Amino acid sequence: MRVLVIEDELRLAATLQDLLELNGYTADVRHDGESGLDEALTGIYDVILLDVMLPKLDGFSVLRRLRDGGNATPVLMLTARSEVTDRVEGLDRGADYYLTKPFDPKELLACVRALTRRQPELRNPDALEFGGVRLDKSRFTLICGERSVRLSRKEFDIMEQLLLNRNLVLTKESLLLKIWGYESEAEDNNVEVYISFLRKKLAHLHAKVRIRTIRMVGYCLEEEN
Ligand code: CA
Repeated sequence: MRVLVIEDELRLAATLQDLLELNGYTADVRHDGESGLDEALTGIYDVILLDVMLPKLDGFSVLRRLRDGGNATPVLMLTARSEVTDRVEGLDRGADYYLTKPFDPKELLACVRALTRRQPELRNPDALEFGGVRLDKSRFTLICGERSVRLSRKEFDIMEQLLLNRNLVLTKESLLLKIWGYESEAEDNNVEVYISFLRKKLAHLHAKVRIRTIRMVGYCLEEEN
């Protein structure tokens, strides 16, 4: 899961990022409304935490432009102001939740969980799944339980091949051909490097599947006993 934090108070932004990352989310931070909106419009986020009082573009304007542009990413508004009018304004403009500062980290995490559960993409059939690990093709994300990691293009392509050929041996040669192509100068150790990245990510996810090395041949994705 990837969360965008748009918050100009540096310390709070850093605290939120730490809290989210400790809880298995990937968190990106932007400190003003303009760059926050640009980032949000990439569409790669599962949830956006949006402060109201922001330099360059305030939170309400960010939210309006996001929704006007057809972006439906769940938004959790954060603000120091607790006036009821703000609360109503935020909800009218398409915010999904509203938290007033200071808030309890547990409450924030509960909101983020609730918002991510609502997303239909989480039930996307266009995803490969094996042993509790799911590759989300629309988000280049590998997911296991509550944890998720983003994959680079190459990592994604290799993981896709491993999932499609689960429990089968994939040779290094076939991976090189499929991922890098005939013209490429890539060698066996390119494959090894990306396999090691993927193993680290699977470990980070606490996944119950592993990429086994078949000596002199290649790799096999299998479930741990
Ligand atoms: Ca602020």
